[in-house]
Amino acid sequence: MTAVSAAAAAYIVAALLFVLSLAGLSRHETARAGNGYGIAGMAVALAATVGLAARSIEAAAVGLIVVAMAGGAAIGLWRARRVQMTGMPELIALLHSFVGLAAVLVGWNGYLSVEANAGEQTEVPADLLGIHSAEVVIGVFIGAVTLTGSIVAFLKLSARIRSNPLMLPGRNWLNLGALVAFAALTVAFVVSPGLGLLTAVTVLALALGWHLVASIGGGDMPVVVSMLNSYSGWAAAASGFLLDNDLLIITGALVGSSGAYLSYIMCRAMNRSFLSVIAGGFGNEGSTASGTADGEHTEVTAEEVAELLRDAQSVVITPGYGMAVAHAQYPVAELTRQLTERGVDVRFGIHPVAGRLPGHMNVLLAEAKVPYDIVLEMDEINDDLAKTDVVLVIGANDTVNPAALEDPGSPIAGMPVLQVWEAEHVVVFKRSMSTGYAGVQNPLFFRENTRMLFGDARERVEDILKSL
Ligand code: NDP
Repeated sequence: MTAVSAAAAAYIVAALLFVLSLAGLSRHETARAGNGYGIAGMAVALAATVGLAARSIEAAAVGLIVVAMAGGAAIGLWRARRVQMTGMPELIALLHSFVGLAAVLVGWNGYLSVEANAGEQTEVPADLLGIHSAEVVIGVFIGAVTLTGSIVAFLKLSARIRSNPLMLPGRNWLNLGALVAFAALTVAFVVSPGLGLLTAVTVLALALGWHLVASIGGGDMPVVVSMLNSYSGWAAAASGFLLDNDLLIITGALVGSSGAYLSYIMCRAMNRSFLSVIAGGFGNEGSTASGTADGEHTEVTAEEVAELLRDAQSVVITPGYGMAVAHAQYPVAELTRQLTERGVDVRFGIHPVAGRLPGHMNVLLAEAKVPYDIVLEMDEINDDLAKTDVVLVIGANDTVNPAALEDPGSPIAGMPVLQVWEAEHVVVFKRSMSTGYAGVQNPLFFRENTRMLFGDARERVEDILKSL
């Protein structure tokens, strides 16, 4: 077997492992195995690629690649071990920006080694030069949009910039104009490739990526993260065409299409238009106001909540980002166990975008060994909330905000929410009256059947456990 066919065989194995990985990651019971398949696939792919490259480059260059890989792996391991679960979305956004940057560099390298050497002997035959130029310009464009889009997402998710949508006048026309200009520049570059044209495409795409994500508001950020995941896949596929690497094309297409599908599912779950979100909030003239909510809120103590729970027959817990911040999942799991032992029917209601990454709450609850069968999706539990004695809202805010259904002017109008206010009693665990991620005030806090339990969610749940 030649080295080339061995590498091709290894690529097929790696591609199959990636498919198994995606299948595994789609359910929590199999997610760990899915991760394992992904790691194995990447190890096979890297070994085959470096082995193949070693045939045509000098030993010193192979050494450099191995050193770079070892350095990258060490940084990756260090970051992955240190990152808090709540910091995952911003880390993921940052990693997407690296894929975008890599695609831009691969595109520019393609130009410098082929088109820029016009007239000299290159590895691309003259009759395929047009296709090569199109690959260069498309790869650079997708990569640059991914690069700056992901940087803005990182800045918004890590609260380094405000998550409010940037509302430039005529912003939809700006985006459309950028796409038309890109089409024109692509044709011009294919006909006559030049440094100026490629620079113009790069600058245009960097600006478009920045603007597309800056125009999207906080409530839609989950979709943006999975959309950028999809873009990073297409950017990798574009690099695969340029580098003539089949595995990169397959992997890029897998990431691109699964990311696009995830974005579509999330848009449906949040009643958002998929096209509107990928077009930078197109058609959404949505308010940037923070919404209003007036009235008096009523406070409650942990002892009083314990009393309420003692008398309850059915309890639903709706966790949110605050539960993750407070690491409250462990006392919450203990509370669930104790209440269940007392004969109370305890279930969880999980909103699709609760927390800061898809499946965030499910992961935390699984970590604390809450049984999967009492953890229900929003659609499965919403109808039962009216028959529930007590709902404990633990560090959730936007995902339980009635303004989404009742106030058409609200920035989160139309987003389906957990209708916790239908229950007999609602207890909200949070530290203050401040807003959630979308920056919208929550009228739930002022409802007659709502009680506010202020303080760190973990400490307050532990206080309830003591009283119980
Ligand atoms: P929110 O972000 O709306 O609200 C979380 C609440 O938790 C805050 O109001 C905060 O109030 C409270 N909190 C914070 N720390 C603590 C603590 N230690 N103890 C008690 N409470 C605390 O949470 P939701 O989960 O309801 O909504 C998620 C939001 O994040 C949505 O807007 C969603 O669109 C967005 N998002 C989701 C992503 C995803 O993939 N799931 C990705 C990116 C964004 P206080 O400060 O008063 O304590």
